[in-house]
Amino acid sequence: MPEVKTSRFKSESVKALANDNIQRALGAPFAHFVDGRKSAIDADYTEESWESMRDRAAATKAHTIERLDYYLDLVDKNVRRNGGHVHFANDSTHANQIVLDIARQNDVKTVIKSKSMVSEEMGINDVLEKNGITPVETDLGEYIIQLAKETPFHLIAPAVHKTKGQVSDLFEKFLDSAPTDDIEKLCIIARDVLRDNFAKADMGISGANFIVAETGTVVLVTNEGNGRMTTSAPRIHVAISGMEKLLPSIEDVGLFLRLLPRSATGQRITSYNSFISGPRASTDEDGPEEFHLILVDNGRLNLLKDETLREALSCIRCGACLNHCPVYRKVGGHAYGWVYPGPIGAIVSPMLTGLKEGKDLPYASTLCGSCRDVCPVKIDLPKLLLDMRHKIVKSGGGTMPERLGIGQWHNAMKTRKKLEGKVRLGRFLQGAVARKGIIKRLPLPVVNGWTKSRDFPALAPRSFAEIWRDDLSGGDRS
Ligand code: SF4
Repeated sequence: MPEVKTSRFKSESVKALANDNIQRALGAPFAHFVDGRKSAIDADYTEESWESMRDRAAATKAHTIERLDYYLDLVDKNVRRNGGHVHFANDSTHANQIVLDIARQNDVKTVIKSKSMVSEEMGINDVLEKNGITPVETDLGEYIIQLAKETPFHLIAPAVHKTKGQVSDLFEKFLDSAPTDDIEKLCIIARDVLRDNFAKADMGISGANFIVAETGTVVLVTNEGNGRMTTSAPRIHVAISGMEKLLPSIEDVGLFLRLLPRSATGQRITSYNSFISGPRASTDEDGPEEFHLILVDNGRLNLLKDETLREALSCIRCGACLNHCPVYRKVGGHAYGWVYPGPIGAIVSPMLTGLKEGKDLPYASTLCGSCRDVCPVKIDLPKLLLDMRHKIVKSGGGTMPERLGIGQWHNAMKTRKKLEGKVRLGRFLQGAVARKGIIKRLPLPVVNGWTKSRDFPALAPRSFAEIWRDDLSGGDRS
Protein backbone atom coordinates (compact mmCIF):
# COMPACT_ATOMS: atom_id res chain seq x y z
CA MET A 1 0.00 0.00 0.00
CA PRO A 2 1.40 3.47 -0.85
CA GLU A 3 2.34 5.70 2.07
CA VAL A 4 -0.76 7.15 3.73
CA LYS A 5 -0.29 10.92 4.09
CA THR A 6 -3.87 11.86 4.89
CA SER A 7 -2.84 13.42 8.22
CA ARG A 8 -0.96 16.11 6.29
CA PHE A 9 -4.09 17.41 4.56
CA LYS A 10 -3.94 20.91 6.07
CA SER A 11 -0.26 21.57 5.40
CA GLU A 12 -0.42 20.05 1.91
CA SER A 13 -3.49 22.17 1.11
CA VAL A 14 -1.58 25.33 2.00
CA LYS A 15 1.25 24.24 -0.33
CA ALA A 16 -1.21 23.46 -3.14
CA LEU A 17 -2.81 26.89 -2.82
CA ALA A 18 0.60 28.49 -3.37
CA ASN A 19 1.49 26.25 -6.32
CA ASP A 20 0.79 28.07 -9.61
CA ASN A 21 0.85 24.90 -11.71
CA ILE A 22 -1.76 23.25 -9.52
CA GLN A 23 -3.93 26.34 -9.47
CA ARG A 24 -3.72 26.57 -13.28
CA ALA A 25 -4.54 22.87 -13.65
CA LEU A 26 -7.60 23.28 -11.46
CA GLY A 27 -8.99 25.97 -13.77
CA ALA A 28 -9.74 25.34 -17.42
CA PRO A 29 -9.69 21.49 -17.51
CA PHE A 30 -12.22 21.30 -14.70
CA ALA A 31 -14.44 23.98 -16.20
CA HIS A 32 -14.37 21.77 -19.31
CA PHE A 33 -15.45 18.70 -17.27
CA VAL A 34 -18.26 20.65 -15.59
CA ASP A 35 -19.57 22.26 -18.79
CA GLY A 36 -19.16 19.02 -20.76
CA ARG A 37 -21.20 17.07 -18.23
CA LYS A 38 -23.99 19.62 -18.32
CA SER A 39 -24.11 19.76 -22.12
CA ALA A 40 -24.06 15.97 -22.45
CA ILE A 41 -26.94 15.62 -20.01
CA ASP A 42 -28.99 18.45 -21.49
CA ALA A 43 -28.34 17.41 -25.09
CA ASP A 44 -30.04 14.16 -25.75
CA TYR A 45 -32.31 12.82 -23.08
CA THR A 46 -35.78 12.29 -24.33
CA GLU A 47 -36.39 8.59 -23.81
CA GLU A 48 -35.67 8.71 -20.07
CA SER A 49 -34.86 11.65 -17.85
CA TRP A 50 -31.43 11.95 -16.27
CA GLU A 51 -33.05 11.93 -12.81
CA SER A 52 -34.88 8.71 -13.54
CA MET A 53 -31.63 7.12 -14.74
CA ARG A 54 -29.88 8.22 -11.53
CA ASP A 55 -32.72 6.75 -9.48
CA ARG A 56 -32.48 3.42 -11.29
CA ALA A 57 -28.70 3.32 -10.94
CA ALA A 58 -28.86 4.13 -7.21
CA ALA A 59 -31.46 1.40 -6.70
CA THR A 60 -29.42 -1.15 -8.67
CA LYS A 61 -26.25 -0.45 -6.72
CA ALA A 62 -28.09 -0.45 -3.37
CA HIS A 63 -29.72 -3.78 -4.26
CA THR A 64 -26.34 -5.29 -5.19
CA ILE A 65 -24.54 -4.00 -2.10
CA GLU A 66 -27.31 -5.31 0.17
CA ARG A 67 -26.89 -8.78 -1.39
CA LEU A 68 -23.16 -8.67 -1.97
CA ASP A 69 -22.54 -12.16 -0.61
CA TYR A 70 -25.03 -13.64 -3.09
CA TYR A 71 -23.59 -11.76 -6.07
CA LEU A 72 -19.99 -12.56 -5.10
CA ASP A 73 -20.90 -16.25 -5.09
CA LEU A 74 -22.59 -15.85 -8.45
CA VAL A 75 -19.66 -14.08 -10.08
CA ASP A 76 -17.27 -16.66 -8.66
CA LYS A 77 -19.35 -19.48 -10.16
CA ASN A 78 -19.68 -17.81 -13.56
CA VAL A 79 -16.04 -16.73 -13.97
CA ARG A 80 -15.00 -20.33 -13.21
CA ARG A 81 -17.59 -21.66 -15.64
CA ASN A 82 -16.03 -19.39 -18.30
CA GLY A 83 -12.61 -20.95 -17.63
CA GLY A 84 -11.21 -18.18 -15.41
CA HIS A 85 -9.92 -18.17 -11.83
CA VAL A 86 -11.32 -16.10 -8.97
CA HIS A 87 -9.29 -14.99 -5.93
CA PHE A 88 -10.58 -13.16 -2.87
CA ALA A 89 -8.00 -10.92 -1.19
CA ASN A 90 -8.44 -9.61 2.35
CA ASP A 91 -6.09 -6.68 1.96
CA SER A 92 -3.39 -5.14 -0.22
CA THR A 93 -0.65 -7.47 0.97
CA HIS A 94 -2.78 -10.50 0.20
CA ALA A 95 -3.77 -9.14 -3.24
CA ASN A 96 -0.13 -8.32 -4.10
CA GLN A 97 0.90 -11.83 -3.10
CA ILE A 98 -1.73 -13.36 -5.39
CA VAL A 99 -0.44 -11.27 -8.32
CA LEU A 100 3.17 -12.22 -7.52
CA ASP A 101 2.28 -15.92 -7.31
CA ILE A 102 0.59 -15.83 -10.71
CA ALA A 103 3.56 -13.94 -12.19
CA ARG A 104 6.13 -16.33 -10.74
CA GLN A 105 4.24 -19.44 -11.83
CA ASN A 106 4.27 -18.09 -15.39
CA ASP A 107 7.80 -16.70 -15.43
CA VAL A 108 6.53 -13.18 -16.07
CA LYS A 109 9.17 -10.47 -16.65
CA THR A 110 7.10 -7.52 -17.89
CA VAL A 111 3.59 -6.51 -16.88
CA ILE A 112 1.48 -3.93 -18.70
CA LYS A 113 -1.29 -2.23 -16.82
CA SER A 114 -4.40 -0.33 -17.72
CA LYS A 115 -5.89 2.08 -15.22
CA SER A 116 -6.89 0.52 -11.92
CA MET A 117 -7.49 2.51 -8.74
CA VAL A 118 -7.43 -0.65 -6.62
CA SER A 119 -3.94 -1.45 -7.88
CA GLU A 120 -2.98 2.06 -6.71
CA GLU A 121 -4.36 1.14 -3.27
CA MET A 122 -2.17 -1.96 -3.33
CA GLY A 123 0.98 -0.19 -4.49
CA ILE A 124 1.43 -3.09 -6.90
CA ASN A 125 4.03 -1.36 -9.07
CA ASP A 126 6.51 -1.09 -6.19
CA VAL A 127 5.89 -4.70 -5.21
CA LEU A 128 6.47 -5.96 -8.76
CA GLU A 129 9.63 -3.89 -9.18
CA LYS A 130 11.06 -5.15 -5.88
CA ASN A 131 10.51 -8.68 -7.17
CA GLY A 132 12.31 -8.16 -10.47
CA ILE A 133 9.20 -7.66 -12.63
CA THR A 134 8.83 -4.51 -14.72
CA PRO A 135 5.38 -2.88 -14.55
CA VAL A 136 4.44 -0.41 -17.28
CA GLU A 137 1.34 1.76 -17.03
CA THR A 138 -0.32 2.17 -20.42
CA ASP A 139 -2.95 4.85 -19.75
CA LEU A 140 -1.05 7.97 -20.79
CA GLY A 141 -1.84 9.88 -17.58
CA GLU A 142 -0.92 6.91 -15.42
CA TYR A 143 2.29 6.42 -17.42
CA ILE A 144 3.28 10.05 -16.76
CA ILE A 145 2.71 9.78 -13.01
CA GLN A 146 4.48 6.42 -12.94
CA LEU A 147 7.57 8.15 -14.37
CA ALA A 148 7.11 11.01 -11.89
CA LYS A 149 6.61 8.52 -9.02
CA GLU A 150 3.40 10.22 -7.92
CA THR A 151 -0.11 9.12 -7.02
CA PRO A 152 -3.07 10.13 -9.25
CA PHE A 153 -4.21 13.73 -8.95
CA HIS A 154 -7.75 12.85 -10.02
CA LEU A 155 -9.81 9.68 -10.41
CA ILE A 156 -10.08 9.90 -14.19
CA ALA A 157 -7.36 12.42 -15.06
CA PRO A 158 -4.36 11.27 -13.04
CA ALA A 159 -1.81 13.66 -14.59
CA VAL A 160 -4.04 16.68 -15.17
CA HIS A 161 -1.74 18.76 -12.93
CA LYS A 162 1.30 18.23 -15.18
CA THR A 163 2.21 20.88 -17.75
CA LYS A 164 3.46 19.84 -21.19
CA GLY A 165 6.88 21.18 -20.17
CA GLN A 166 6.94 18.89 -17.14
CA VAL A 167 5.90 15.92 -19.29
CA SER A 168 8.61 16.76 -21.81
CA ASP A 169 11.19 16.91 -18.97
CA LEU A 170 10.07 13.49 -17.70
CA PHE A 171 10.29 11.96 -21.18
CA GLU A 172 13.70 13.52 -21.74
CA LYS A 173 14.96 12.14 -18.41
CA PHE A 174 13.51 8.63 -18.63
CA LEU A 175 13.03 8.02 -22.38
CA ASP A 176 15.93 10.05 -23.71
CA SER A 177 13.65 11.99 -26.05
CA ALA A 178 14.28 15.50 -27.36
CA PRO A 179 12.48 18.28 -25.48
CA THR A 180 9.25 19.46 -27.08
CA ASP A 181 6.15 21.42 -26.15
CA ASP A 182 4.14 19.81 -28.95
CA ILE A 183 1.49 17.64 -27.28
CA GLU A 184 1.04 15.46 -30.35
CA LYS A 185 4.76 14.72 -30.41
CA LEU A 186 4.68 13.87 -26.69
CA CYS A 187 1.85 11.41 -27.36
CA ILE A 188 3.80 9.80 -30.20
CA ILE A 189 6.87 9.39 -27.96
CA ALA A 190 4.77 7.66 -25.30
CA ARG A 191 2.93 5.53 -27.84
CA ASP A 192 6.17 4.20 -29.35
CA VAL A 193 7.43 3.13 -25.93
CA LEU A 194 4.12 1.61 -24.92
CA ARG A 195 3.71 -0.30 -28.21
CA ASP A 196 7.01 -2.11 -27.55
CA ASN A 197 5.81 -3.05 -24.10
CA PHE A 198 2.45 -4.29 -25.34
CA ALA A 199 4.36 -6.59 -27.66
CA LYS A 200 6.73 -8.02 -25.08
CA ALA A 201 4.57 -8.18 -21.92
CA ASP A 202 3.66 -11.59 -20.50
CA MET A 203 0.91 -10.33 -18.25
CA GLY A 204 -1.71 -7.60 -18.45
CA ILE A 205 -3.27 -6.14 -15.32
CA SER A 206 -6.53 -4.23 -15.64
CA GLY A 207 -9.10 -2.84 -13.27
CA ALA A 208 -12.83 -3.30 -13.77
CA ASN A 209 -15.40 -0.57 -14.15
CA PHE A 210 -18.16 -3.12 -13.64
CA ILE A 211 -18.36 -6.87 -13.13
CA VAL A 212 -21.52 -8.64 -14.27
CA ALA A 213 -22.44 -11.37 -11.79
CA GLU A 214 -24.82 -13.34 -13.99
CA THR A 215 -22.25 -13.76 -16.81
CA GLY A 216 -18.90 -13.41 -15.00
CA THR A 217 -18.00 -10.52 -17.33
CA VAL A 218 -15.53 -7.73 -16.60
CA VAL A 219 -16.54 -4.45 -18.27
CA LEU A 220 -13.78 -1.95 -19.04
CA VAL A 221 -14.32 1.61 -20.19
CA THR A 222 -11.34 3.47 -21.72
CA ASN A 223 -10.64 6.22 -24.22
CA GLU A 224 -7.17 5.25 -25.37
CA GLY A 225 -7.64 1.63 -26.38
CA ASN A 226 -4.95 0.62 -23.90
CA GLY A 227 -7.44 -1.35 -21.84
CA ARG A 228 -8.25 -3.61 -24.76
CA MET A 229 -4.56 -4.07 -25.63
CA THR A 230 -3.71 -4.84 -21.99
CA THR A 231 -6.41 -7.48 -21.71
CA SER A 232 -5.92 -9.16 -25.07
CA ALA A 233 -2.24 -9.02 -26.09
CA PRO A 234 -0.39 -10.77 -23.20
CA ARG A 235 -0.64 -14.47 -22.33
CA ILE A 236 -2.22 -13.75 -18.96
CA HIS A 237 -4.87 -11.26 -17.97
CA VAL A 238 -5.35 -10.37 -14.31
CA ALA A 239 -8.31 -8.10 -13.49
CA ILE A 240 -8.15 -6.50 -10.04
CA SER A 241 -11.24 -4.92 -8.57
CA GLY A 242 -12.82 -3.83 -5.34
CA MET A 243 -15.50 -6.35 -4.40
CA GLU A 244 -18.22 -3.69 -4.66
CA LYS A 245 -17.99 -3.26 -8.44
CA LEU A 246 -20.65 -5.89 -9.18
CA LEU A 247 -23.81 -5.46 -11.21
CA PRO A 248 -26.43 -8.20 -11.18
CA SER A 249 -27.12 -8.61 -14.90
CA ILE A 250 -25.83 -7.68 -18.33
CA GLU A 251 -29.02 -5.66 -18.84
CA ASP A 252 -27.89 -3.27 -16.09
CA VAL A 253 -24.68 -2.37 -17.89
CA GLY A 254 -26.27 -0.14 -20.55
CA LEU A 255 -27.60 2.26 -17.93
CA PHE A 256 -24.18 2.64 -16.31
CA LEU A 257 -22.41 3.02 -19.65
CA ARG A 258 -24.63 6.03 -20.28
CA LEU A 259 -24.22 7.53 -16.80
CA LEU A 260 -20.47 7.08 -16.37
CA PRO A 261 -18.99 8.94 -19.37
CA ARG A 262 -21.49 11.80 -19.20
CA SER A 263 -20.72 12.30 -15.51
CA ALA A 264 -16.97 11.87 -15.92
CA THR A 265 -15.88 13.67 -19.08
CA GLY A 266 -19.10 14.86 -20.67
CA GLN A 267 -18.87 12.23 -23.40
CA ARG A 268 -21.96 10.45 -24.65
CA ILE A 269 -20.00 7.24 -24.76
CA THR A 270 -16.37 6.32 -24.19
CA SER A 271 -14.27 5.27 -27.16
CA TYR A 272 -13.71 1.67 -26.05
CA ASN A 273 -16.13 -0.48 -24.08
CA SER A 274 -14.65 -3.95 -23.56
CA PHE A 275 -16.57 -6.95 -22.24
CA ILE A 276 -14.25 -9.73 -21.06
CA SER A 277 -15.68 -13.10 -20.10
CA GLY A 278 -12.76 -15.35 -19.29
CA PRO A 279 -9.70 -16.45 -21.27
CA ARG A 280 -9.51 -17.20 -24.98
CA ALA A 281 -11.97 -19.91 -26.04
CA SER A 282 -10.89 -22.77 -28.32
CA THR A 283 -12.65 -21.05 -31.22
CA ASP A 284 -11.04 -17.63 -30.60
CA GLU A 285 -8.13 -16.52 -32.79
CA ASP A 286 -6.43 -14.58 -30.02
CA GLY A 287 -6.77 -13.43 -26.42
CA PRO A 288 -5.12 -14.46 -23.16
CA GLU A 289 -4.59 -18.10 -22.27
CA GLU A 290 -5.32 -17.43 -18.59
CA PHE A 291 -7.77 -15.11 -16.91
CA HIS A 292 -7.74 -14.25 -13.19
CA LEU A 293 -10.15 -12.03 -11.31
CA ILE A 294 -8.93 -10.73 -7.94
CA LEU A 295 -11.68 -9.29 -5.75
CA VAL A 296 -10.21 -7.11 -3.05
CA ASP A 297 -11.70 -6.26 0.36
CA ASN A 298 -9.00 -3.95 1.82
CA GLY A 299 -11.43 -2.31 4.27
CA ARG A 300 -14.57 -2.49 2.15
CA LEU A 301 -16.23 -4.93 4.54
CA ASN A 302 -15.88 -2.27 7.25
CA LEU A 303 -17.85 0.05 5.02
CA LEU A 304 -20.40 -2.66 4.30
CA LYS A 305 -20.95 -3.27 8.02
CA ASP A 306 -21.77 0.41 8.57
CA GLU A 307 -25.43 0.98 7.75
CA THR A 308 -24.91 4.64 6.84
CA LEU A 309 -21.50 4.60 5.16
CA ARG A 310 -22.11 1.52 3.02
CA GLU A 311 -23.78 3.85 0.53
CA ALA A 312 -20.24 4.90 -0.46
CA LEU A 313 -19.74 1.43 -1.96
CA SER A 314 -22.11 2.44 -4.77
CA CYS A 315 -19.46 4.81 -6.18
CA ILE A 316 -18.59 4.22 -9.83
CA ARG A 317 -15.48 6.47 -9.65
CA CYS A 318 -16.67 8.96 -12.25
CA GLY A 319 -14.96 11.91 -10.54
CA ALA A 320 -17.95 14.29 -10.94
CA CYS A 321 -18.03 15.04 -7.21
CA LEU A 322 -14.38 16.13 -7.40
CA ASN A 323 -15.00 18.35 -10.41
CA HIS A 324 -17.83 20.16 -8.64
CA CYS A 325 -16.30 20.37 -5.15
CA PRO A 326 -15.16 23.91 -4.18
CA VAL A 327 -12.54 22.44 -1.83
CA TYR A 328 -11.05 19.95 -4.33
CA ARG A 329 -11.07 22.71 -6.96
CA LYS A 330 -8.76 24.77 -4.74
CA VAL A 331 -6.41 22.18 -3.24
CA GLY A 332 -6.34 19.42 -5.89
CA GLY A 333 -5.85 15.71 -5.44
CA HIS A 334 -2.47 15.28 -3.78
CA ALA A 335 -3.43 17.24 -0.66
CA TYR A 336 -5.79 14.40 0.29
CA GLY A 337 -2.73 12.21 0.83
CA TRP A 338 -3.86 8.88 -0.57
CA VAL A 339 -5.38 7.26 -3.63
CA TYR A 340 -8.90 8.71 -3.48
CA PRO A 341 -9.32 12.50 -3.34
CA GLY A 342 -12.33 14.82 -3.17
CA PRO A 343 -15.64 14.24 -1.37
CA ILE A 344 -15.73 10.48 -1.99
CA GLY A 345 -12.08 10.21 -0.94
CA ALA A 346 -12.85 12.09 2.27
CA ILE A 347 -15.21 9.23 3.16
CA VAL A 348 -13.46 6.21 1.68
CA SER A 349 -9.85 7.02 2.65
CA PRO A 350 -10.40 7.28 6.44
CA MET A 351 -12.49 4.10 6.35
CA LEU A 352 -9.87 2.17 4.35
CA THR A 353 -6.74 3.53 5.99
CA GLY A 354 -7.85 4.48 9.52
CA LEU A 355 -9.98 7.19 11.13
CA LYS A 356 -7.07 8.62 13.07
CA GLU A 357 -4.89 9.24 10.02
CA GLY A 358 -7.74 10.66 7.93
CA LYS A 359 -9.54 12.67 10.59
CA ASP A 360 -9.19 16.01 8.78
CA LEU A 361 -10.58 14.83 5.45
CA PRO A 362 -14.33 14.82 6.26
CA TYR A 363 -13.94 18.47 7.29
CA ALA A 364 -12.62 19.32 3.82
CA SER A 365 -16.12 20.18 2.67
CA THR A 366 -18.42 23.18 2.83
CA LEU A 367 -21.39 20.76 2.77
CA CYS A 368 -22.75 22.80 -0.15
CA GLY A 369 -24.30 19.66 -1.63
CA SER A 370 -22.93 19.97 -5.19
CA CYS A 371 -21.34 16.53 -4.91
CA ARG A 372 -24.70 14.94 -4.06
CA ASP A 373 -26.44 16.82 -6.88
CA VAL A 374 -24.06 15.54 -9.57
CA CYS A 375 -23.43 12.01 -8.34
CA PRO A 376 -24.82 9.61 -10.98
CA VAL A 377 -25.70 7.05 -8.31
CA LYS A 378 -27.14 9.65 -5.92
CA ILE A 379 -24.77 9.04 -3.03
CA ASP A 380 -25.73 11.50 -0.29
CA LEU A 381 -22.14 12.61 0.22
CA PRO A 382 -22.83 15.51 2.65
CA LYS A 383 -24.78 13.13 4.90
CA LEU A 384 -21.90 10.64 4.85
CA LEU A 385 -19.36 13.40 5.52
CA LEU A 386 -21.36 14.49 8.58
CA ASP A 387 -21.56 10.90 9.75
CA MET A 388 -17.79 10.58 9.38
CA ARG A 389 -17.30 13.76 11.43
CA HIS A 390 -19.55 12.29 14.10
CA LYS A 391 -17.50 9.08 14.14
CA ILE A 392 -14.23 11.00 14.34
CA VAL A 393 -15.41 13.06 17.30
CA LYS A 394 -16.77 9.95 19.03
CA SER A 395 -13.48 8.16 18.56
CA GLY A 396 -11.65 10.97 20.37
CA GLY A 397 -10.76 13.05 17.30
CA GLY A 398 -10.65 16.83 17.43
CA THR A 399 -8.43 19.04 19.55
CA MET A 400 -9.02 19.77 23.24
CA PRO A 401 -10.16 23.39 22.59
CA GLU A 402 -12.57 22.11 19.90
CA ARG A 403 -14.06 19.56 22.28
CA LEU A 404 -14.27 22.16 25.04
CA GLY A 405 -15.97 24.67 22.74
CA ILE A 406 -18.51 22.16 21.41
CA GLY A 407 -19.17 20.95 24.98
CA GLN A 408 -19.92 24.53 26.07
CA TRP A 409 -22.16 25.05 23.06
CA HIS A 410 -24.02 21.81 23.75
CA ASN A 411 -24.55 22.84 27.36
CA ALA A 412 -25.68 26.36 26.44
CA MET A 413 -28.29 25.11 24.00
CA LYS A 414 -30.04 22.91 26.56
CA THR A 415 -32.32 25.63 27.98
CA ARG A 416 -33.13 29.26 27.16
CA LYS A 417 -31.90 30.33 30.58
CA LYS A 418 -28.50 28.74 30.01
CA LEU A 419 -28.25 30.23 26.52
CA GLU A 420 -29.05 33.73 27.77
CA GLY A 421 -26.49 33.35 30.55
CA LYS A 422 -23.78 32.37 28.04
CA VAL A 423 -24.76 35.23 25.73
CA ARG A 424 -24.43 37.72 28.61
CA LEU A 425 -20.99 36.28 29.42
CA GLY A 426 -20.00 36.46 25.74
CA ARG A 427 -21.06 40.13 25.52
CA PHE A 428 -18.95 40.90 28.55
CA LEU A 429 -15.87 39.08 27.22
CA GLN A 430 -16.10 40.48 23.68
CA GLY A 431 -15.89 44.04 25.05
CA ALA A 432 -12.10 43.87 24.79
CA VAL A 433 -12.01 42.86 21.09
CA ALA A 434 -15.27 44.04 19.41
CA ARG A 435 -15.37 47.38 17.60
CA LYS A 436 -18.53 48.69 15.85
CA GLY A 437 -20.18 45.29 15.89
CA ILE A 438 -17.17 43.49 14.36
CA ILE A 439 -14.42 41.34 15.83
CA LYS A 440 -11.35 41.63 13.62
CA ARG A 441 -9.18 39.16 15.50
CA LEU A 442 -10.24 36.50 17.98
CA PRO A 443 -7.42 35.99 20.48
CA LEU A 444 -8.26 32.40 21.42
CA PRO A 445 -6.52 29.35 19.88
CA VAL A 446 -8.48 27.34 17.22
CA VAL A 447 -11.23 29.99 16.86
CA ASN A 448 -8.65 32.58 15.82
CA GLY A 449 -8.47 30.66 12.51
CA TRP A 450 -11.85 32.20 11.65
CA THR A 451 -10.53 35.75 11.79
CA LYS A 452 -7.34 35.14 9.82
CA SER A 453 -9.12 35.92 6.57
CA ARG A 454 -12.50 37.40 7.57
CA ASP A 455 -14.24 39.45 10.26
CA PHE A 456 -16.42 37.85 12.89
CA PRO A 457 -19.74 39.52 13.81
CA ALA A 458 -19.92 40.52 17.46
CA LEU A 459 -22.91 39.55 19.61
CA ALA A 460 -25.64 42.19 19.32
CA PRO A 461 -26.18 44.40 22.42
CA ARG A 462 -29.69 42.93 22.70
CA SER A 463 -31.00 39.67 21.23
CA PHE A 464 -34.26 39.47 19.30
CA ALA A 465 -35.79 37.56 22.22
CA GLU A 466 -34.87 40.41 24.58
CA ILE A 467 -36.20 43.09 22.23
CA TRP A 468 -39.43 41.12 21.83
CA ARG A 469 -39.81 40.57 25.54
CA ASP A 470 -39.02 44.14 26.58
CA ASP A 471 -40.35 46.30 23.73
CA LEU A 472 -42.61 44.44 21.34
CA SER A 473 -44.68 41.85 23.12
CA GLY A 474 -47.09 44.41 24.55
CA GLY A 475 -46.85 42.91 27.96
CA ASP A 476 -47.29 39.32 26.80
CA ARG A 477 -44.14 37.66 28.13
CA SER A 478 -44.96 34.16 27.03
S1 SF4 B 1 -19.27 9.55 -5.31
FE1 SF4 B 1 -20.62 9.72 -7.09
S2 SF4 B 1 -19.87 11.55 -8.16
FE2 SF4 B 1 -18.22 10.92 -6.74
S3 SF4 B 1 -16.88 9.61 -7.96
FE3 SF4 B 1 -18.38 8.28 -6.94
S4 SF4 B 1 -20.05 8.01 -8.41
FE4 SF4 B 1 -18.86 9.77 -9.09
